Amino acid sequence: MYNPQVGDKVSDLDTPSMIVDLDLMEANIKKLMDKLLPTGVNIRPHLKTTKSAVLAQKLAAAGAKGGCVAKLSEAEVIAEAGFDDLLITCEIIGPVKVKRLVALYQKHRKIRIVIDSAVGATAINDALAASGIEEPICVLVDLDVGLHRTGVAAGEPALALARHIGGLKHLKIIGVQGYEGHLQHLHDRADREQQCLASMKTLTETADALRQAGFDIQVVTTGGTGTAEFCVTVPGVNEVQPGSFIFMDTDYRNAVGRFYGNSLTILSTVVSKQGPRAVTIDAGLKSLTTDSGLAECKDARYAYGVLGDEQGSLVWEEGTPDLDVGDVVEMIPSHIDPTINLHDFYYAHRNGVVKEIWPVDSRGKVQ
Ligand code: PLP
Ligand code: MN
Repeated sequence: MYNPQVGDKVSDLDTPSMIVDLDLMEANIKKLMDKLLPTGVNIRPHLKTTKSAVLAQKLAAAGAKGGCVAKLSEAEVIAEAGFDDLLITCEIIGPVKVKRLVALYQKHRKIRIVIDSAVGATAINDALAASGIEEPICVLVDLDVGLHRTGVAAGEPALALARHIGGLKHLKIIGVQGYEGHLQHLHDRADREQQCLASMKTLTETADALRQAGFDIQVVTTGGTGTAEFCVTVPGVNEVQPGSFIFMDTDYRNAVGRFYGNSLTILSTVVSKQGPRAVTIDAGLKSLTTDSGLAECKDARYAYGVLGDEQGSLVWEEGTPDLDVGDVVEMIPSHIDPTINLHDFYYAHRNGVVKEIWPVDSRGKVQ
């Protein structure tokens, strides 16, 4: 049985393998904390990227307060792995999921949820009432700040939803979430900032309107890797949710620049030579996602192409050293979150020696 160990050399790992350069990853965490912590805003990193309880703990040790998960099933796994200060950032809808939420809350009272509909609120309230749990669950009103994905509209709809939730005994409003996901990858920095500040205006004005209506709004949460630095400048925003910064990807590098480094790569082997300047590697669609464009070889002289589920191509210009069967390359993912979801383990190394192995705990947890 293949069983790589701490102390092994990266060059001895089978491929494809997901490897992390610890020095680069730690530098990314430090850069984010150094930049954002002095503003006094809480950092609740989004664990939809890493899907790892170990990494949640490392981020907390560096100054983060809790974490976010996208889905309820991610929360189940990360909480069970020992990290349960979690905000679930997607709506929990449907009887099966509501039942799972109650079971999770039974064991983990720090779990927070978002709500954007009266129907969703009532279902969760009723299930909690039936469970006999006294303590109300902490709820953030999910506000649409321009993404048009989830979230209630600002103004009267948000107030009406808050009043509805406020009337339900087993739900306690503690804040507002407004995620501007449509802005994260805008390449023009000034445009990204300006549109972000407009979204933050909607968010903070809604938080104030809810306060005026008598709600105790303690948490105003927002932001990702592309916008967190702007969000923290806005009075009234007190929590940000960046995720991808820890590893980055080519799409984020092209959008936000090289402040954070690409610390995660997919190790891949050349398995066939297909011409004088063309080889096939063992990383295709099942190792590297393509929704945000193609992955890049760390050595930029070699250009990647997809050859189906299991393989990809690397081609190069004349004058570039040849790649041959058996050579090993590192590929930088184009979109980090769904790429990580394709792999079972991280092999974290320093200078080519594996120092830690972390499971991708919530891999495949899409429910
Ligand atoms: N918050 C929410 C609600 C998200 O959906 C995401 C990512 O999609 C993030 C934060 C983190 O964004 P990023 O990984 O771009 O930093
Ligand atoms: Mn993403």
